[in-house]
Amino acid sequence: MGAAQSDIAILGGGLAGGLAALALARFRPDLSVVLIERDAALGGNHVWSFFATDLPAGGGELIEPLIEARWHGYDVRFPGFSRTLTTPYCATTSARLDAAVRAALPADAILTGVSVTGCTAIGVTLSDGRDITAKAIIDARGETDFSHMTGGWQKFFGQHLKLAQPHGLSRPIVMDADVPQDDGYRFVYALPFAPDEVFVEDTYYTDDPALDRDRLTHNIAAYANARGWQVLGVLAEEHGVLPVVSGGRIEDLLARPGHHGALAGTRAGLFHPMTSYSLPDALRFALALARQPDLRPFEFPAFAARHARNHWKNSWYYRVMTALLFDAARPDRRYRVLRRFYGLNQRLIERFYAGKSTWKDRARILAGRPPLPISSALRVLTGLGARPRPLVSDRQPQG
Ligand SMILES: Cc1cc2nc3c(=O)[nH]c(=O)nc-3n(C[C@H](O)[C@H](O)[C@H](O)COP(=O)(O)OP(=O)(O)OC[C@H]3O[C@@H](n4cnc5c(N)ncnc54)[C@H](O)[C@@H]3O)c2cc1C
Repeated sequence: MGAAQSDIAILGGGLAGGLAALALARFRPDLSVVLIERDAALGGNHVWSFFATDLPAGGGELIEPLIEARWHGYDVRFPGFSRTLTTPYCATTSARLDAAVRAALPADAILTGVSVTGCTAIGVTLSDGRDITAKAIIDARGETDFSHMTGGWQKFFGQHLKLAQPHGLSRPIVMDADVPQDDGYRFVYALPFAPDEVFVEDTYYTDDPALDRDRLTHNIAAYANARGWQVLGVLAEEHGVLPVVSGGRIEDLLARPGHHGALAGTRAGLFHPMTSYSLPDALRFALALARQPDLRPFEFPAFAARHARNHWKNSWYYRVMTALLFDAARPDRRYRVLRRFYGLNQRLIERFYAGKSTWKDRARILAGRPPLPISSALRVLTGLGARPRPLVSDRQPQG
Protein backbone atom coordinates (compact mmCIF):
# COMPACT_ATOMS: atom_id res chain seq x y z
CA MET A 1 0.00 0.00 0.00
CA GLY A 2 1.51 3.35 -1.07
CA ALA A 3 1.38 6.55 0.90
CA ALA A 4 -2.39 7.23 1.12
CA GLN A 5 -1.70 10.74 2.33
CA SER A 6 1.09 12.98 1.13
CA ASP A 7 1.97 16.61 0.54
CA ILE A 8 2.31 16.24 -3.24
CA ALA A 9 0.79 13.70 -5.63
CA ILE A 10 2.51 13.68 -9.03
CA LEU A 11 0.26 12.21 -11.73
CA GLY A 12 2.29 10.60 -14.52
CA GLY A 13 5.79 9.26 -14.06
CA GLY A 14 7.06 10.28 -17.50
CA LEU A 15 9.74 12.84 -18.25
CA ALA A 16 8.20 15.86 -16.50
CA GLY A 17 6.74 13.90 -13.58
CA GLY A 18 9.98 12.01 -13.04
CA LEU A 19 12.09 15.18 -13.10
CA ALA A 20 9.69 16.97 -10.75
CA ALA A 21 9.96 14.03 -8.34
CA LEU A 22 13.76 14.12 -8.52
CA ALA A 23 13.90 17.88 -7.93
CA LEU A 24 11.47 17.76 -5.00
CA ALA A 25 13.38 14.88 -3.41
CA ARG A 26 16.62 16.84 -3.78
CA PHE A 27 15.51 20.36 -2.80
CA ARG A 28 12.33 19.83 -0.76
CA PRO A 29 12.96 16.77 1.39
CA ASP A 30 10.50 18.32 3.87
CA LEU A 31 7.64 17.44 1.49
CA SER A 32 6.28 13.93 1.10
CA VAL A 33 5.70 12.96 -2.53
CA VAL A 34 3.79 10.16 -4.21
CA LEU A 35 4.35 9.48 -7.91
CA ILE A 36 1.63 7.61 -9.84
CA GLU A 37 2.37 6.00 -13.22
CA ARG A 38 0.03 3.76 -15.20
CA ASP A 39 2.84 1.77 -16.84
CA ALA A 40 5.08 -0.71 -15.05
CA ALA A 41 8.19 1.41 -15.57
CA LEU A 42 8.70 5.15 -15.21
CA GLY A 43 9.35 7.16 -18.38
CA GLY A 44 8.05 4.63 -20.89
CA ASN A 45 10.60 3.39 -23.41
CA HIS A 46 12.35 6.55 -24.51
CA VAL A 47 15.61 8.13 -25.54
CA TRP A 48 15.46 11.88 -24.84
CA SER A 49 18.27 13.93 -26.36
CA PHE A 50 19.31 17.51 -25.76
CA PHE A 51 22.09 19.98 -26.45
CA ALA A 52 24.16 20.60 -23.31
CA THR A 53 23.63 24.33 -23.92
CA ASP A 54 19.84 23.87 -23.58
CA LEU A 55 19.99 23.07 -19.88
CA PRO A 56 18.87 25.60 -17.30
CA ALA A 57 21.44 26.77 -14.74
CA GLY A 58 21.89 24.13 -12.06
CA GLY A 59 20.15 21.46 -14.17
CA GLY A 60 23.31 19.48 -14.95
CA GLU A 61 23.50 17.88 -11.53
CA LEU A 62 19.93 16.59 -11.64
CA ILE A 63 20.12 15.27 -15.19
CA GLU A 64 23.61 13.72 -14.92
CA PRO A 65 22.47 10.25 -13.71
CA LEU A 66 20.05 10.06 -16.65
CA ILE A 67 22.70 10.52 -19.33
CA GLU A 68 23.39 7.38 -21.33
CA ALA A 69 25.71 8.93 -23.93
CA ARG A 70 27.35 12.26 -24.60
CA TRP A 71 29.20 13.51 -27.64
CA HIS A 72 31.48 16.53 -28.04
CA GLY A 73 29.71 17.92 -31.06
CA TYR A 74 27.44 16.98 -33.94
CA ASP A 75 27.17 17.20 -37.71
CA VAL A 76 24.53 18.59 -40.05
CA ARG A 77 24.35 17.88 -43.77
CA PHE A 78 22.38 19.57 -46.51
CA PRO A 79 22.63 19.51 -50.30
CA GLY A 80 25.83 21.49 -51.02
CA PHE A 81 26.64 22.24 -47.37
CA SER A 82 27.74 20.36 -44.28
CA ARG A 83 29.12 21.45 -40.94
CA THR A 84 30.46 20.12 -37.65
CA LEU A 85 29.35 22.05 -34.57
CA THR A 86 31.15 21.69 -31.26
CA THR A 87 28.03 21.99 -29.08
CA PRO A 88 27.94 18.90 -26.80
CA TYR A 89 24.98 16.62 -27.42
CA CYS A 90 23.57 14.14 -24.86
CA ALA A 91 21.09 11.30 -24.78
CA THR A 92 19.15 10.24 -21.67
CA THR A 93 17.02 7.11 -21.34
CA SER A 94 13.82 6.28 -19.54
CA ALA A 95 15.53 3.27 -17.91
CA ARG A 96 17.94 5.67 -16.21
CA LEU A 97 15.11 8.01 -15.21
CA ASP A 98 13.32 5.03 -13.64
CA ALA A 99 16.45 4.03 -11.70
CA ALA A 100 17.21 7.60 -10.54
CA VAL A 101 13.66 8.23 -9.28
CA ARG A 102 13.56 4.86 -7.48
CA ALA A 103 16.87 5.73 -5.80
CA ALA A 104 15.60 9.17 -4.73
CA LEU A 105 12.11 8.32 -3.40
CA PRO A 106 11.01 5.78 -0.79
CA ALA A 107 9.72 2.60 -2.45
CA ASP A 108 6.16 3.15 -1.21
CA ALA A 109 6.09 6.65 -2.76
CA ILE A 110 6.18 5.20 -6.29
CA LEU A 111 2.97 3.61 -7.52
CA THR A 112 3.35 2.00 -10.94
CA GLY A 113 0.96 -0.10 -13.00
CA VAL A 114 -1.99 1.91 -11.73
CA SER A 115 -3.89 4.72 -13.46
CA VAL A 116 -5.38 7.89 -12.10
CA THR A 117 -9.10 7.62 -12.81
CA GLY A 118 -10.40 10.62 -10.89
CA CYS A 119 -9.18 13.87 -9.38
CA THR A 120 -10.51 16.30 -6.80
CA ALA A 121 -8.94 19.36 -5.22
CA ILE A 122 -7.58 17.24 -2.40
CA GLY A 123 -6.65 13.98 -3.99
CA VAL A 124 -6.94 11.33 -6.63
CA THR A 125 -8.67 8.01 -7.16
CA LEU A 126 -6.72 5.16 -8.68
CA SER A 127 -7.82 2.38 -11.00
CA ASP A 128 -7.43 -0.16 -8.19
CA GLY A 129 -9.94 1.79 -6.09
CA ARG A 130 -7.46 3.46 -3.77
CA ASP A 131 -7.85 7.11 -2.81
CA ILE A 132 -4.77 9.26 -2.24
CA THR A 133 -5.14 12.59 -0.51
CA ALA A 134 -2.61 15.33 -1.13
CA LYS A 135 -2.17 19.04 -0.40
CA ALA A 136 -1.21 19.59 -4.04
CA ILE A 137 -1.44 17.72 -7.32
CA ILE A 138 1.12 18.00 -10.10
CA ASP A 139 -0.53 16.81 -13.31
CA ALA A 140 2.24 15.56 -15.61
CA ARG A 141 0.24 13.01 -17.60
CA GLY A 142 1.53 14.20 -20.97
CA GLU A 143 -0.57 15.77 -23.73
CA THR A 144 -1.90 14.34 -26.96
CA ASP A 145 -4.47 16.93 -28.02
CA PHE A 146 -3.11 20.13 -29.54
CA SER A 147 -6.18 20.80 -31.67
CA HIS A 148 -6.56 24.37 -30.39
CA MET A 149 -3.05 25.21 -31.64
CA THR A 150 -1.89 25.73 -35.22
CA GLY A 151 1.20 24.65 -37.11
CA GLY A 152 2.48 21.38 -38.50
CA TRP A 153 3.99 18.11 -37.39
CA GLN A 154 7.35 16.57 -36.76
CA LYS A 155 6.90 12.87 -37.40
CA PHE A 156 9.55 10.20 -37.24
CA PHE A 157 10.29 6.53 -37.06
CA GLY A 158 13.61 5.33 -35.67
CA GLN A 159 15.49 2.06 -35.39
CA HIS A 160 18.46 1.22 -33.21
CA LEU A 161 20.58 -0.83 -35.62
CA LYS A 162 23.20 -3.43 -34.82
CA LEU A 163 25.78 -3.46 -37.61
CA ALA A 164 28.21 -6.07 -38.87
CA GLN A 165 31.05 -3.52 -38.94
CA PRO A 166 31.76 -0.17 -37.25
CA HIS A 167 29.71 2.67 -38.73
CA GLY A 168 32.58 5.12 -38.56
CA LEU A 169 30.57 7.95 -36.95
CA SER A 170 32.30 9.67 -34.05
CA ARG A 171 29.41 12.05 -33.28
CA PRO A 172 25.69 12.33 -34.02
CA ILE A 173 24.28 13.59 -37.30
CA VAL A 174 21.48 15.74 -35.93
CA MET A 175 20.19 16.53 -39.43
CA ASP A 176 21.21 14.77 -42.61
CA ALA A 177 18.99 16.55 -45.09
CA ASP A 178 21.13 15.44 -48.02
CA VAL A 179 18.44 12.85 -48.75
CA PRO A 180 15.49 13.01 -51.19
CA GLN A 181 13.08 15.67 -49.94
CA ASP A 182 9.61 14.24 -49.58
CA ASP A 183 6.47 14.91 -47.50
CA GLY A 184 7.82 18.28 -46.31
CA TYR A 185 11.29 18.82 -44.84
CA ARG A 186 12.90 15.40 -44.57
CA PHE A 187 16.11 14.52 -42.75
CA VAL A 188 17.76 11.54 -41.14
CA TYR A 189 18.93 11.71 -37.52
CA ALA A 190 21.70 9.33 -36.43
CA LEU A 191 23.05 8.68 -32.92
CA PRO A 192 26.15 6.46 -32.71
CA PHE A 193 25.64 4.64 -29.38
CA ALA A 194 28.50 2.15 -29.89
CA PRO A 195 31.04 1.58 -32.68
CA ASP A 196 28.69 -1.00 -34.25
CA GLU A 197 25.36 0.42 -33.05
CA VAL A 198 23.58 3.42 -34.48
CA PHE A 199 20.12 4.78 -33.88
CA VAL A 200 18.72 6.02 -37.23
CA GLU A 201 15.54 8.06 -37.43
CA ASP A 202 13.74 9.12 -40.62
CA THR A 203 12.15 12.49 -39.80
CA TYR A 204 9.69 14.85 -41.51
CA TYR A 205 8.51 18.39 -40.85
CA THR A 206 5.20 17.87 -42.54
CA ASP A 207 1.59 19.01 -42.86
CA ASP A 208 0.38 15.40 -42.72
CA PRO A 209 0.51 13.60 -39.34
CA ALA A 210 -0.08 10.15 -40.88
CA LEU A 211 2.98 7.98 -40.29
CA ASP A 212 3.68 5.33 -42.93
CA ARG A 213 5.81 2.95 -40.91
CA ASP A 214 6.59 0.62 -43.83
CA ARG A 215 7.86 3.47 -45.98
CA LEU A 216 10.02 4.88 -43.19
CA THR A 217 11.41 1.42 -42.39
CA HIS A 218 12.35 1.08 -46.05
CA ASN A 219 13.98 4.55 -45.97
CA ILE A 220 16.10 3.61 -42.94
CA ALA A 221 17.27 0.44 -44.70
CA ALA A 222 18.08 2.46 -47.82
CA TYR A 223 20.03 5.03 -45.76
CA ALA A 224 22.05 2.29 -44.03
CA ASN A 225 22.70 0.64 -47.36
CA ALA A 226 23.84 3.90 -48.98
CA ARG A 227 26.38 4.35 -46.18
CA GLY A 228 27.67 0.80 -46.61
CA TRP A 229 26.30 -0.36 -43.25
CA GLN A 230 25.37 -4.03 -43.11
CA VAL A 231 22.50 -4.39 -40.62
CA LEU A 232 22.58 -7.48 -38.38
CA GLY A 233 19.42 -6.63 -36.49
CA VAL A 234 17.13 -4.00 -34.95
CA LEU A 235 17.62 -3.58 -31.19
CA ALA A 236 14.80 -1.10 -30.58
CA GLU A 237 12.31 1.12 -32.40
CA GLU A 238 10.48 4.35 -31.64
CA HIS A 239 8.08 6.63 -33.43
CA GLY A 240 6.50 9.96 -32.72
CA VAL A 241 4.17 12.54 -34.23
CA LEU A 242 4.86 15.75 -32.35
CA PRO A 243 3.28 19.20 -32.72
CA VAL A 244 5.31 22.02 -34.27
CA VAL A 245 3.45 25.08 -33.10
CA SER A 246 2.86 28.34 -34.97
CA GLY A 247 -0.01 29.78 -32.91
CA GLY A 248 -2.84 29.22 -30.48
CA ARG A 249 -3.85 30.24 -26.99
CA ILE A 250 -2.13 28.88 -23.91
CA GLU A 251 -5.29 29.50 -21.87
CA ASP A 252 -7.14 26.89 -23.94
CA LEU A 253 -4.55 24.31 -22.97
CA LEU A 254 -4.41 25.27 -19.30
CA ALA A 255 -8.19 25.28 -18.90
CA ARG A 256 -8.84 22.00 -20.70
CA PRO A 257 -11.28 19.67 -18.88
CA GLY A 258 -9.35 16.85 -17.25
CA HIS A 259 -6.33 19.00 -16.43
CA HIS A 260 -5.85 19.25 -12.67
CA GLY A 261 -3.72 21.05 -10.13
CA ALA A 262 -0.27 22.25 -11.16
CA LEU A 263 0.28 21.35 -14.83
CA ALA A 264 3.74 20.18 -15.85
CA GLY A 265 5.50 19.01 -19.01
CA THR A 266 3.80 18.92 -22.40
CA ARG A 267 0.45 19.16 -20.57
CA ALA A 268 1.42 22.75 -19.70
CA GLY A 269 2.77 23.49 -23.19
CA LEU A 270 6.33 23.33 -21.83
CA PHE A 271 8.22 22.44 -25.00
CA HIS A 272 10.10 24.22 -27.76
CA PRO A 273 7.50 25.21 -30.38
CA MET A 274 9.78 24.35 -33.28
CA THR A 275 11.43 21.12 -32.14
CA SER A 276 8.74 19.87 -29.73
CA TYR A 277 11.60 18.86 -27.42
CA SER A 278 10.60 19.19 -23.81
CA LEU A 279 13.47 17.89 -21.68
CA PRO A 280 15.09 21.29 -20.96
CA ASP A 281 11.71 22.86 -20.15
CA ALA A 282 10.67 19.95 -17.93
CA LEU A 283 13.93 20.33 -16.05
CA ARG A 284 13.55 24.12 -15.79
CA PHE A 285 10.05 23.71 -14.36
CA ALA A 286 11.14 21.03 -11.89
CA LEU A 287 13.99 23.18 -10.61
CA ALA A 288 11.90 26.34 -10.42
CA LEU A 289 9.15 24.57 -8.49
CA ALA A 290 11.45 22.87 -6.02
CA ARG A 291 13.69 25.87 -5.45
CA GLN A 292 10.98 28.45 -4.90
CA PRO A 293 11.61 29.71 -1.36
CA ASP A 294 8.61 29.29 0.94
CA LEU A 295 6.36 27.92 -1.80
CA ARG A 296 3.67 25.91 -0.06
CA PRO A 297 1.93 22.99 -1.75
CA PHE A 298 -1.40 24.81 -2.12
CA GLU A 299 0.42 27.54 -4.11
CA PHE A 300 1.79 25.06 -6.69
CA PRO A 301 -1.08 25.39 -9.23
CA ALA A 302 -0.84 29.19 -9.46
CA PHE A 303 2.95 28.96 -9.69
CA ALA A 304 2.72 26.35 -12.47
CA ALA A 305 0.17 28.40 -14.44
CA ARG A 306 2.41 31.49 -14.24
CA HIS A 307 5.35 29.39 -15.39
CA ALA A 308 3.38 28.02 -18.37
CA ARG A 309 2.16 31.49 -19.38
CA ASN A 310 5.67 32.91 -19.19
CA HIS A 311 7.03 30.07 -21.29
CA TRP A 312 4.32 30.63 -23.90
CA LYS A 313 4.93 34.39 -23.94
CA ASN A 314 8.69 34.01 -24.18
CA SER A 315 8.52 31.54 -27.07
CA TRP A 316 6.49 33.68 -29.47
CA TYR A 317 9.48 34.10 -31.82
CA TYR A 318 9.78 30.35 -32.37
CA ARG A 319 6.09 30.15 -33.26
CA VAL A 320 6.68 32.85 -35.88
CA MET A 321 9.61 30.81 -37.21
CA THR A 322 7.35 27.75 -37.41
CA ALA A 323 4.78 29.80 -39.34
CA LEU A 324 7.49 30.89 -41.78
CA LEU A 325 8.74 27.33 -42.23
CA PHE A 326 5.30 25.81 -42.76
CA ASP A 327 3.38 28.61 -44.43
CA ALA A 328 5.94 30.64 -46.38
CA ALA A 329 8.24 27.91 -47.70
CA ARG A 330 7.19 25.34 -50.28
CA PRO A 331 7.32 21.93 -48.54
CA ASP A 332 10.07 20.60 -50.83
CA ARG A 333 12.12 23.77 -50.19
CA ARG A 334 11.83 23.92 -46.42
CA TYR A 335 15.30 22.42 -46.17
CA ARG A 336 16.71 25.71 -47.50
CA VAL A 337 15.50 27.53 -44.37
CA LEU A 338 17.40 25.09 -42.15
CA ARG A 339 20.45 25.07 -44.42
CA ARG A 340 20.73 28.82 -44.15
CA PHE A 341 20.13 28.74 -40.39
CA TYR A 342 22.98 26.24 -39.93
CA GLY A 343 25.36 28.62 -41.72
CA LEU A 344 24.97 31.14 -38.88
CA ASN A 345 27.06 31.62 -35.75
CA GLN A 346 27.19 28.55 -33.47
CA ARG A 347 26.27 30.50 -30.33
CA LEU A 348 23.22 31.93 -32.11
CA ILE A 349 22.17 28.37 -33.04
CA GLU A 350 22.67 27.25 -29.43
CA ARG A 351 20.57 30.12 -28.10
CA PHE A 352 17.85 29.32 -30.65
CA TYR A 353 17.50 25.72 -29.46
CA ALA A 354 17.72 26.82 -25.83
CA GLY A 355 14.83 29.26 -26.45
CA LYS A 356 17.10 32.15 -25.52
CA SER A 357 17.56 34.04 -28.78
CA THR A 358 18.58 37.66 -28.31
CA TRP A 359 17.00 40.48 -30.31
CA LYS A 360 20.17 40.59 -32.39
CA ASP A 361 19.87 36.84 -33.08
CA ARG A 362 16.25 37.27 -34.12
CA ALA A 363 17.13 40.04 -36.54
CA ARG A 364 20.12 38.09 -37.87
CA ILE A 365 18.02 34.99 -38.59
CA LEU A 366 15.58 37.05 -40.63
CA ALA A 367 18.12 39.37 -42.28
CA GLY A 368 20.06 38.90 -45.49
CA ARG A 369 19.16 36.95 -48.58
CA PRO A 370 16.04 35.03 -47.61
CA PRO A 371 15.78 31.29 -48.29
CA LEU A 372 12.06 31.69 -49.00
CA PRO A 373 10.00 34.02 -51.21
CA ILE A 374 9.81 37.49 -49.65
CA SER A 375 6.16 37.94 -50.67
CA SER A 376 5.14 34.70 -48.90
CA ALA A 377 7.20 35.60 -45.82
CA LEU A 378 5.58 39.03 -45.65
CA ARG A 379 2.10 37.52 -45.97
CA VAL A 380 2.86 35.24 -43.01
CA LEU A 381 4.47 37.98 -40.91
CA THR A 382 1.59 40.39 -41.51
CA GLY A 383 -1.05 37.72 -40.93
CA LEU A 384 -2.39 38.12 -44.47
CA GLY A 385 -1.44 34.62 -45.60
CA ALA A 386 -3.58 31.49 -45.65
CA ARG A 387 -5.25 30.58 -42.37
CA PRO A 388 -2.85 28.50 -40.25
CA ARG A 389 -3.88 24.85 -39.93
CA PRO A 390 -5.17 23.59 -36.57
CA LEU A 391 -3.13 20.71 -35.16
CA VAL A 392 -5.81 18.09 -35.57
CA SER A 393 -4.90 14.51 -36.18
CA ASP A 394 -6.89 11.27 -36.45
CA ARG A 395 -3.87 9.54 -35.08
CA GLN A 396 -3.15 10.90 -31.65
CA PRO A 397 0.37 12.33 -31.54
CA GLN A 398 2.67 11.21 -28.77
CA GLY A 399 4.30 13.98 -26.87
C1 LIG B 1 9.35 8.93 -29.65
C2 LIG B 1 9.61 10.28 -29.05
C3 LIG B 1 10.91 10.76 -28.96
C4 LIG B 1 11.16 12.01 -28.37
N1 LIG B 1 12.45 12.45 -28.28
C5 LIG B 1 12.69 13.59 -27.59
C6 LIG B 1 14.04 13.99 -27.37
O1 LIG B 1 14.99 13.36 -27.86
N2 LIG B 1 14.26 15.12 -26.62
C7 LIG B 1 13.21 15.83 -26.08
O2 LIG B 1 13.45 16.82 -25.37
N3 LIG B 1 11.94 15.50 -26.35
C8 LIG B 1 11.64 14.39 -27.08
N4 LIG B 1 10.34 14.03 -27.29
C9 LIG B 1 9.26 14.97 -26.96
C10 LIG B 1 8.89 15.04 -25.48
O3 LIG B 1 9.97 15.54 -24.75
C11 LIG B 1 8.51 13.69 -24.89
O4 LIG B 1 7.32 13.26 -25.47
C12 LIG B 1 8.35 13.70 -23.35
O5 LIG B 1 8.29 12.37 -22.92
C13 LIG B 1 7.13 14.47 -22.87
O6 LIG B 1 7.19 14.53 -21.47
P1 LIG B 1 5.89 14.54 -20.54
O7 LIG B 1 6.35 14.27 -19.17
O8 LIG B 1 5.07 15.75 -20.81
O9 LIG B 1 5.02 13.30 -21.05
P2 LIG B 1 5.40 11.77 -20.94
O10 LIG B 1 6.86 11.57 -20.86
O11 LIG B 1 4.65 11.09 -22.03
O12 LIG B 1 4.80 11.34 -19.52
C14 LIG B 1 3.43 11.22 -19.25
C15 LIG B 1 3.27 10.00 -18.36
O13 LIG B 1 1.96 10.00 -17.79
C16 LIG B 1 1.51 8.67 -17.76
N5 LIG B 1 0.05 8.71 -17.68
C17 LIG B 1 -0.83 9.18 -18.60
N6 LIG B 1 -2.08 9.08 -18.15
C18 LIG B 1 -2.01 8.54 -16.91
C19 LIG B 1 -2.98 8.21 -15.92
N7 LIG B 1 -4.29 8.40 -16.13
N8 LIG B 1 -2.55 7.68 -14.75
C20 LIG B 1 -1.22 7.49 -14.51
N9 LIG B 1 -0.27 7.79 -15.42
C21 LIG B 1 -0.65 8.31 -16.60
C22 LIG B 1 2.04 8.06 -19.06
O14 LIG B 1 2.08 6.64 -19.01
C23 LIG B 1 3.42 8.70 -19.13
O15 LIG B 1 4.43 7.90 -18.52
C24 LIG B 1 10.07 12.79 -27.89
C25 LIG B 1 8.77 12.30 -28.00
C26 LIG B 1 8.53 11.06 -28.57
C27 LIG B 1 7.12 10.56 -28.67
